[in-house]
Amino acid sequence: MSDSISNTPLNVTERGLVCRFTKRKSTFICTYFDGLWLLGFNQEDVNGKKLEDIFPSELSGIINKYCYQAWNGQFIQYETKLKGNDYIAFFAPLFNNGEIVEVIGTFIQSNKSSLENEQVNTNSLYEDVLQTMSEAVIIIEKDGKVTALNENFQKMIGLKGDYTYGWTEVEYVAEDGSHLPYSELPGVKTLEKGISFHNSIVGVKDNENNQIKWLSVNSKPLTIRDHSDRASLVSISDITERKEMENTYIQAKEEAEKANRAKSDFLSKMSHELRTPLNGIFGFAQLLELDDSLNDQQRDYVQEILKGGGHLLNLINEVLDLSRIETGKLKVSIEEVPLLNIIDECINIVEPLAKKKNIRIQKQLDPQHDMVVLADPVRLKQILLNLLENAIKYNRQNGNIMINSYLEGDDQFVHIVDTGVGFSVEEYHKIFVPFYRVEGTKEEGTGIGLAIVKQLVQQMGGEISVRSKKGQGSEFCFSLPIPKNLKPVIRWEDEVESIKKVEGRSEHYRLLYIEDNESNLNLVKNIIKSHPSYTLLTANNGKEGIKKAALEKIDLILLDLNLPDMNGYAVFDMLKAKEQTKGIAVIAVSANAMPQDIQHTLDKGFDNYLSKPIHVKEFLNTVSETLNNTITQNIPHHTILSTGPYGEEAVSAKTLQLSLTELKKIKEKKYRAAIAMHYADNDWSKSQIAGVTSTFEKMGIEVIAVTDAQFKWEKQVEDIETILIQKPDIIVSIPVDPIFTASVYKKAANAGVKLVFMDNVPKGLEHGKDYVSIVSTDNFGNGIEAAHIMGQELGGKGKVGMINYNADFFATKQRTEGFEETIKQQYPSIELVAQEGLTDPSHGEKVAVDMIRKNPDMNGMFVVWDVPAEGAMKATEAVGKSDLVITTIDLGFNAALEMAKDGSIKGLGAQLPYQQGVAEAILAGYALLRKQTPPYVAVPALRVTNKNLLEAWRLVYNEDAPDLIQRTLK
Ligand code: ADP
Repeated sequence: MSDSISNTPLNVTERGLVCRFTKRKSTFICTYFDGLWLLGFNQEDVNGKKLEDIFPSELSGIINKYCYQAWNGQFIQYETKLKGNDYIAFFAPLFNNGEIVEVIGTFIQSNKSSLENEQVNTNSLYEDVLQTMSEAVIIIEKDGKVTALNENFQKMIGLKGDYTYGWTEVEYVAEDGSHLPYSELPGVKTLEKGISFHNSIVGVKDNENNQIKWLSVNSKPLTIRDHSDRASLVSISDITERKEMENTYIQAKEEAEKANRAKSDFLSKMSHELRTPLNGIFGFAQLLELDDSLNDQQRDYVQEILKGGGHLLNLINEVLDLSRIETGKLKVSIEEVPLLNIIDECINIVEPLAKKKNIRIQKQLDPQHDMVVLADPVRLKQILLNLLENAIKYNRQNGNIMINSYLEGDDQFVHIVDTGVGFSVEEYHKIFVPFYRVEGTKEEGTGIGLAIVKQLVQQMGGEISVRSKKGQGSEFCFSLPIPKNLKPVIRWEDEVESIKKVEGRSEHYRLLYIEDNESNLNLVKNIIKSHPSYTLLTANNGKEGIKKAALEKIDLILLDLNLPDMNGYAVFDMLKAKEQTKGIAVIAVSANAMPQDIQHTLDKGFDNYLSKPIHVKEFLNTVSETLNNTITQNIPHHTILSTGPYGEEAVSAKTLQLSLTELKKIKEKKYRAAIAMHYADNDWSKSQIAGVTSTFEKMGIEVIAVTDAQFKWEKQVEDIETILIQKPDIIVSIPVDPIFTASVYKKAANAGVKLVFMDNVPKGLEHGKDYVSIVSTDNFGNGIEAAHIMGQELGGKGKVGMINYNADFFATKQRTEGFEETIKQQYPSIELVAQEGLTDPSHGEKVAVDMIRKNPDMNGMFVVWDVPAEGAMKATEAVGKSDLVITTIDLGFNAALEMAKDGSIKGLGAQLPYQQGVAEAILAGYALLRKQTPPYVAVPALRVTNKNLLEAWRLVYNEDAPDLIQRTLK
């Protein structure tokens, strides 16, 4: 990496500073700093330090944000103040081999009266930096004029004369070697169409030696400062060496493939040749078998010939299949296949073979779910037969085989589990290699079956994997795609915490399954076998179960409700009545899946409910959810762009969780909590309250009050005073005003109440000492989403107004910043023509009417949240401007209905208030357990338009969208 960035001191003027950062995990670390006198540092002090340790706190948040943007490829210029002076700041990515490796920031002191001078300073400083890079950086203007920002360009295109226009005459070639016209060059296309290119490959022909130099090109649109002209910014790196290496590899690979094809052809021909004489041997041996005159010894010889011949025929057939696959001659014809029927057919075929060894084949398949897969039915049968035959062949006498299947994402998975000889981890890959057999395998075989199975599964668009333990058994699992019309519409549900996470935990859990049905016990044993963090104990009846639960340090009980000796509810009551067992979590397992029965069972105090037949995925998720209570599982994994009120880096809500042991500790204390809202009567607040209360309920925390301050700070102060009289342990709250409410929160903190804030924090309160954490949505990210929807709706050009919120709310401020910066940087032809601040959200309509009247040619309006956006919506009707595009933040009912109608609100960035509430409750739990808490936690942003409205609603509110919205959308 160091070839592009050397640590030569840069020529910094006496009035500026330059710094470089690289990203480690989610922080930026300083790698270079000059101009340090300004902040009172030495070079040694700052190298390797985090950004927030270098800059004053009021600045570090904003610089952090710009570093993120530069890290994402943006060039940012803005004016700022530092120690009382004005500066022009510039942030840009530094590339190496087309990758962003560092971010560079320059700050040049600007004197407004001689701005031009300063521009020169900035330029000269930036040029210094550019000269240290191995890439060429150029700007192409409208008429094709190139300005090179460093000296590399001329060298790279191998031009001797003036390149300014001369570069258009050079001969360029595309990656396939064909001629590439000038108009097709990435930088030129960016200039014309305004689109960016990333790592495009362009060749430059050197006519002198007829060689091609290969370049990787990145280009993006640029508006030159003080000109409204478009230009494109292009960075180019020389990748000739890499390309040559790739070519060598490709050649070697082609040769190897050719050799492999020749081998397969040979095998195929040879197999055909062998088949003919074998038919003779086999046929006549069968005739001999029918001959009555043979004595016993002769009969044995015939049997040997038949056995050997059968084996040879099998081998030849498999070799033929394999060579057909390898030469691409084996074609599969994909159709919709009912998996269940094929599985049954295959079981019937192998059943006699299994009987010989007294092996039981069981299946755990959901007969209600029609498992249709996309496959070639003949080949699917071949796969299943092969795996089943192996599961019998390599099994022990009286062993078991279990088949189960479930849907996950877009694929149907099939598991075949046996209790046979197994093999070690080192063999996992090898057994799929043709002709490989595990050493010491006594059974007859060719070692080709699995190689064919693997190829067939892959040809049908699936994957196969294996897990096995020597002496215990093996589990083969393969997937096949399902037809499009069966795919789930929403993806969020598939993002359930992965099972691996449970495996990775250091905690070990002991489970007790009280069940009399052997086949269910076996299934659960098999599932648990592959999860080393669980140990399973079993009991066949209620009495034995109660006894084991008391003696064996159990964490979780799976209780069949229909036991031979006593009713499951009676067992539950006895467990809860005993001191040693009353704290153990209990999951009911029952064939009864009627909703009212499930509700009745949960009302009795069971922690969860599983209905039979058991689904492996659901089983594991329910067990893991009950054990870990990882309630934040539906949050998408997005990068969080917002920072906290003091520039704190966000920790994703996804990381929060409470373990069963922790939950138990909290439950024992019977804590009490109150929720103090700024306003409780909108969808956002209701959802937050629902998230907090439902999670508190799981934690055994009583909610003693929910207050609504009606947006009045005086009322909120009163509310909290009243709450404090009841001595709660926790208050979850959103302050109406961070200044006027500060003292009452301070009073609560001094009384030892754990304070968790939504979206804003009162002034003067300290994290860790006065409050637990503040939780918000990624507001900056939502602002960005609202800007992109606007940009797309307006086709990248037009005039836009903004309605902001006047109060000192960092959450609403970040939305506005996210929107404004995105429009300015990514939509240069969209002009921001008006900005108004709101003090009261009910004034949305009035403010919007005034704005539209003053700017009649405005095309779009961003309103900082949905309630005033509804006002803006009415304003468009009042002044007859129905084509005004409104984007906003928060998925409220009215905004959603307007989107469903394809009305003036075209889209919005949504918060996930329910999930936010869940996070706040868990954080309160952290504080009660005296666990460390991050100062700022965020849930990710979500873009919503009428295309994903229903899925988004489900994610935001944890329920289906109201009927009216669903009907309107249709
Ligand atoms: P074959 O069974 O004809 O040898 P396969 O390709 O089907 O060929 O299997 C390759 C090897 O993998 C086998 O020789 C055996 O050692 C091992 N193997 C396959 N399936 C199992 C299983 N279910 N249990 C244990 N070992 C197995």
